[in-house]
Amino acid sequence: MDSQAQGELQRSDDPIVWGDLPQLGQNPARIYRLGIMGGTFDPIHNGHLVAAEAAFDRLDLDVVVFMPAGSPAFKQDKKVTSSEDRYAMTLLATSDNPHFVASRFEVDREGITYTAETLRRLRAIYPDNVEFYFITGADAIAEVVTWRDAATIAELAHLVGATRPGYDLSCAQRAFDDAPYDFDVTYLSIPALAISSSYLRERVGSGQSLRYLTPDSVTGYIHKRHLYGARGARYGQMRGDENAL
Ligand code: ATP
Ligand code: MG
Repeated sequence: MDSQAQGELQRSDDPIVWGDLPQLGQNPARIYRLGIMGGTFDPIHNGHLVAAEAAFDRLDLDVVVFMPAGSPAFKQDKKVTSSEDRYAMTLLATSDNPHFVASRFEVDREGITYTAETLRRLRAIYPDNVEFYFITGADAIAEVVTWRDAATIAELAHLVGATRPGYDLSCAQRAFDDAPYDFDVTYLSIPALAISSSYLRERVGSGQSLRYLTPDSVTGYIHKRHLYGARGARYGQMRGDENAL
């Protein structure tokens, strides 16, 4: 075994370096593909989960890591649920899928979360035979070119844009064509997903069910912690959710 491969093995065996990140890259003879699903996840919902699963299947990913943002760059002027609650919901929602991992990588970092910085830190941890696939929704994909240090994002990750069938991609396409950096983008068309966290928050606030919009474990957590104006201290009181808890 050459010294570089040995170095990689030592690195991947170090629990302090890896933390809760999935360990990949041990076999230097193969390429690994790490999916990264970043977001506020306030709360996580089936749109996020279905998009990540579709990316996993269609791009032949090894694992998808969900990283709730500590202090999301785009939501500095908005009230965001605590990162611990958002992380807990992400953990609950991903726990039954063997190729999904929830990570505290961004939550545990002080300051505003920027994707370029996250990718740089991940690149320093993972060996070169691990490729990054950064997954975003249709609304976010066209904006990536405007994100802080977009050149680093273009250099370090493939982009995966989850779109709804019929969604007009020309705007995103134009943004990438005009960008001074070369982005590698794959679009995935995913049926039936007009779900957003804002929609879920609104529904909770007005006492409506979250059934089939997010896993029941997440709904239970929202009630238990009274997030988003969830009313009633007792379980099973929310209309339509009697059996969800
Ligand atoms: P909010 O309504 O608060 O903006 P959101 O539903 O957009 O929340 P975020 O945490 O902001 O959720 O999004 C994280 C990532 O998931 C983004 O890249 C976003 O584009 C993507 N995403 C959100 N909803 C969907 C969906 N229904 N299908 C596919 N991707 C989605
Ligand atoms: Mg959003």
